Amino acid sequence: RKKIAIMTSGGDSPGMNGVVRACVRMAIHMGCDPYCIYEGYEGLVRGGNLIRKMEWHDVRGWLSEGGTLIGTARCMAFFERAGRLAAARNLISQGIDALIICGGDGSLTGADRFRAEWPTLIEELEANGEYTADQLAPYRHLNIVGLVGSIDNDLSGTDATIGCYSALARICYAIDLIEATASSHSRAFVIEVMGRHCGWLALMAGIATGADFIFIPEKPRKDNWREEMCSIVEHHRKQGKRKTIVIIAEGALDREGNKITPEMVKDLLADKKGLGLDTRITTLGHVQRGGTAVAYDRMLATLQGVEAVKAVLEATPETPTCVIAINENKIVRKPLMQAVQDTKRVAKAIESQEFDQAMALRDTEFSE
Ligand code: ATP
Repeated sequence: RKKIAIMTSGGDSPGMNGVVRACVRMAIHMGCDPYCIYEGYEGLVRGGNLIRKMEWHDVRGWLSEGGTLIGTARCMAFFERAGRLAAARNLISQGIDALIICGGDGSLTGADRFRAEWPTLIEELEANGEYTADQLAPYRHLNIVGLVGSIDNDLSGTDATIGCYSALARICYAIDLIEATASSHSRAFVIEVMGRHCGWLALMAGIATGADFIFIPEKPRKDNWREEMCSIVEHHRKQGKRKTIVIIAEGALDREGNKITPEMVKDLLADKKGLGLDTRITTLGHVQRGGTAVAYDRMLATLQGVEAVKAVLEATPETPTCVIAINENKIVRKPLMQAVQDTKRVAKAIESQEFDQAMALRDTEFSE
């Protein structure tokens, strides 16, 4: 029986448990034995009881659980060949040669590297006398499939990452709560949301809550952003609005590449010579990651988990490592490294202040 291992890696996101549940059950449905690797790459490197065979009932109820029940970790050892050799040894000792990884672009890069290196890792195990060529014969290739778990919706090539709609729902809920108190006291709130290189959460939350002004990394405001924001807020106030909501992504920048902080925005709104608004800052932080997955993420996790098992069973040594994406409502397979490289190009463009290029690289929802 074919053995398929499933793991979660990098930052957790709502829906990861749905992925594990779908993969475990689809693997059983396809006549395979599913295994879970606990604690991300740490579990792969350390092996032992961090690699466990799963049964159908082991994942019962997981669809509605937040976070990742099999754990995740940042693992320095996996950056080193010695760590990846230990990982190969642990997989082979359990008879596993197919791996499904749900994580962000870092985790997926590590996965692709592991797969590319696999033949030489196997040779090393043979050269060390740990296994004979005959014993290693069934493990000459490692099939890997990636799934994108991220609250930021920051991977190029897919319309939505698993977890982003849950985080967005959480942000909107929090802003609804804040709005009640804001309009009671006629206050302004500057709300910081996650997104170092990707403003999807800030942009979509701005639309979904009707915020007065937003800041995202890909599209810095013009040099006169201070005057622009103040005149918009003032206009809204003159129209009778009793609350002001400004949403700022963690990675918001000005055109010179300087960070725009919530404190800067607050000081501006509160400035007695200007708007003089009673202004507070709310950093939503890890609240955005927590809690159960919304229906969309459960659906995405399940459909993509099923597709990942199919893809890992159909993969050949010749096919490039794939990542499961969603494009125009269809679950599709895409070359993993292309998606990762495109994602890194956006981050690089932002860092080198080539904002037009960053915008051009972003998906259509970011267009003007
Ligand atoms: P998030 O976007 O939420 O931060 P991520 O998957 O990008 O998630 P990272 O911390 O970048 O998170 O990566 C998670 C783990 O993947 C690392 O701790 C490391 O073990 C492994 N990894 C990342 N990049 C590589 C790489 N180039 N080579 C080998 N392993 C890697």
